[in-house]
Amino acid sequence: MAYQTLYLKYRSQKFGELVGQDAIAQTLKNAVEQGRVAHAYLFSGVRGTGKTSTARILAKAINCLDRKGAEPCGVCANCVEIGTGAAVDLIEIDAASNRGIDEIRDLRERVKYLPAVLKVKVYIIDEAHMLTTEAFNALLKTLEEPPAHVVFVLATTEPHKIPLTVASRCQRFDFRRIETGAIAARLAMIVEREAVKVDPQSLALLARLARGSMRDGITLLDQLISQAGEELTVQRTHELLGLADPDALVRLLGYVVEGDGARTLGELQTFYDAGGDVRQLVRGLLGAIREAALRSVGYQDAEGLGGAASAGLEKLGRAAGRNTLLALWKGLMEMEPELRKGADARLLLEVTLLSNMSQPVPVTVAPAAASVEAVGVERVIEAPMAPEPAVLGPDARWEALKNRLPKPIASLLMDARLATVRDALVRVEFRYPAHAELMQKPNNRDALLAAAREVFGAEARLELVTAEKPPGSSTIAAPPRAAASIADDPLVKEAMNRFDATNVRVTPRGRG
Ligand SMILES: [Zn+2]
Repeated sequence: MAYQTLYLKYRSQKFGELVGQDAIAQTLKNAVEQGRVAHAYLFSGVRGTGKTSTARILAKAINCLDRKGAEPCGVCANCVEIGTGAAVDLIEIDAASNRGIDEIRDLRERVKYLPAVLKVKVYIIDEAHMLTTEAFNALLKTLEEPPAHVVFVLATTEPHKIPLTVASRCQRFDFRRIETGAIAARLAMIVEREAVKVDPQSLALLARLARGSMRDGITLLDQLISQAGEELTVQRTHELLGLADPDALVRLLGYVVEGDGARTLGELQTFYDAGGDVRQLVRGLLGAIREAALRSVGYQDAEGLGGAASAGLEKLGRAAGRNTLLALWKGLMEMEPELRKGADARLLLEVTLLSNMSQPVPVTVAPAAASVEAVGVERVIEAPMAPEPAVLGPDARWEALKNRLPKPIASLLMDARLATVRDALVRVEFRYPAHAELMQKPNNRDALLAAAREVFGAEARLELVTAEKPPGSSTIAAPPRAAASIADDPLVKEAMNRFDATNVRVTPRGRG
């Protein structure tokens, strides 16, 4: 026997089995029992909330030869025919398909014939909002004078697209998104009957991801079970879905909000080491920020991470405040166009997180010892004269410099090092060009210069050196550039512009 999807296998067969649509089920049961079934229904609601399942149950109930109260027996000839999809008098039309349009065209002609086998012909028109104007007109003519032996069920995810003339002739039911708890309970029932091991956290996660759609929840479960084999743990679920671990997301976001650059980068490293995908991580962070923001104002919905992670986000949201979260959100959203342009996703995420750190806290990270070959152009800041060079050693002064900076700016120096200090020229070598670029933003640059003057003396000038290739790669000498052309270099122009510099000096690599 061919594999039957879990969704089809566990589709509700009775009104009593419908999940999360109690009011609708009760109203329809009353109608069946009292013999007051309408000629046309309009079922609206997001996908997977039970619209077509309900339509089929209704079709069985009004055709069942041995009904129990309002419920179809499920075993009589009519129930079985409808259940197997073999009933010629149950006509399911997918309005989204080309065939659907033809079928509607034939509908007016065929609708007047009595049912061949069943008591009542049932037309289920799925995605009814996709019908053409002509098809709606044909349907309207039929609905204006409905034959007694026909019931129409129009199912749609977009009820506002159904013409009012049609909708007004239907009894309308709005199917609600199914609550996460109800979906999780249904999934738990399924794994028990299927005798597969799935931990409750996985079921809760799948239920949340289903976002109110039972079909999506069961389909996800089906896919994961077939991929995971014997046992599905919450860790494995996250892996298979390519999701960042919720606890790791909360930790990472916490470090960013605290302004802890070192731990932020460490957490990212752990994520990459585990083979994580940056885009998934960004999506996870956006979701976590959303939840933190909502929870901080006392609101929560079914889309959160759940459990301890959600509690952590609430705390974090209150601590961070709305502006911090919004700025971070905005920064992450702005990554997308850059990624499309082919930017290095990992570097972009690092820079985005570091540049959005808000609270100045002393940095205790040692300067990176990596040897960097600085290639290319140096930017020179001329500072006005002032006295008193510091008396500390270079390492201590480097630390002192960083300690004077607000944390987000200091974080940009994490992978940088103090190269040389000569004649009040403080040369800082950046490991990543993007960090140097960020340091050149006016606010950052001003803060760094101010700190440098405090530590190295008021006559201190800055030289920010960017490495054009990552550390560890082989050293290739930079091609010599003619001094005359340097000032025309767009990068130099931009740097001069930013620093109001008039003095551009080109230093061959390795000297300084
Ligand atoms: Zn029956």
